[in-house]
Amino acid sequence: MPAKPLVQYFALGGTIATMPAESGAMKQGLGADDLIRMVPALADVADVRGETVARIGSSNLTVDVMLQLAQRVEALADAVGVVISQGTDTLEETSFILDCVLAPSLPVVFTAAMRNPRLTSADGAGNLLASVRVAASPWMRAHVGAIGTVVTFLDHVYAPFDVVKSETSRIDTFRSPATGPLATLIEDRVIPLSLPVRDWKRAVDAALGAKPAARLLAAGRKPVALLWAAMDETGGFLDALLADPAHLGYAGIVFAGTGGGHVPETLVERVERLNRSLPVLIAPRTGAGPLLASTYEGPGSEIGLRQAGLIFSGRLHPLKTRLLLELLLRGGVDRAGIARVFAACG
Ligand code: ASP
Repeated sequence: MPAKPLVQYFALGGTIATMPAESGAMKQGLGADDLIRMVPALADVADVRGETVARIGSSNLTVDVMLQLAQRVEALADAVGVVISQGTDTLEETSFILDCVLAPSLPVVFTAAMRNPRLTSADGAGNLLASVRVAASPWMRAHVGAIGTVVTFLDHVYAPFDVVKSETSRIDTFRSPATGPLATLIEDRVIPLSLPVRDWKRAVDAALGAKPAARLLAAGRKPVALLWAAMDETGGFLDALLADPAHLGYAGIVFAGTGGGHVPETLVERVERLNRSLPVLIAPRTGAGPLLASTYEGPGSEIGLRQAGLIFSGRLHPLKTRLLLELLLRGGVDRAGIARVFAACG
């Protein structure tokens, strides 16, 4: 019998790894080996080697934890692919961090569960099995350079750049509104649907250099604040940021602009003033779709904001714009370099 492929599995916690507490509620607790034992069918697909990295809810994960994990992935010498399970809440962010910093040499697949193991039709076991299938899939392995890190959920494979958790509790919460999935699973097969556009990744690689995880980790935090444009907002946070010479400890700001990338007129002067001392990026508040460049003029319009030197994030979601800006700032990339990367984001 031919040897089965070896898949490395890192477990970080989340609903997929919860167990009943005495109170009757669910608590964090299961590790990688517990989860592997819960899915005997994994043995038909691969040898799965488990390691428990954390047993925490995903809103407690940090950029540093993900950069450390990226280094662990880089150091793997024997596995054909990697599966990482965690909570769904920040899956679109963590998977994007790894996609930004890893040179895709083997499939890296994130997964999670919406229904905890005690519920009828819990989805963790199926998602773990599908993810191992994707990690060991010859199609993924052949095209990994073009695909990068992926998210596998409910028998679909998604690109981190596009995927979002779209609903609080539905099992089909993960979607890529702009592009749809990269692949789908049926029976024991991974069916390719499309390859992602990765100009943004080439721009990130050019800005951060090869294998940046260790350097970005050593550089330490460069916190980026995420503010949302909203009708009739008074701008108190902008006042506080402007009043403090250290800008409350933030190294950059992402401002989720309305529609095609607009800021209410009452806030424009403060947003533009802030941009003179630290990079302020405009990202799409809608969460999807490219931003305008040349349609509207006047204060707070995309033409006015671009003329004032604000960098637009392309079609990258504000949450991911925030993370990419922090990675670039950790990497010491200057404003021109930051603008080049986001110009490649759509
Ligand atoms: N709160 C959980 C988490 O993100 C939710 C989940 O796993 O779906 O860790």
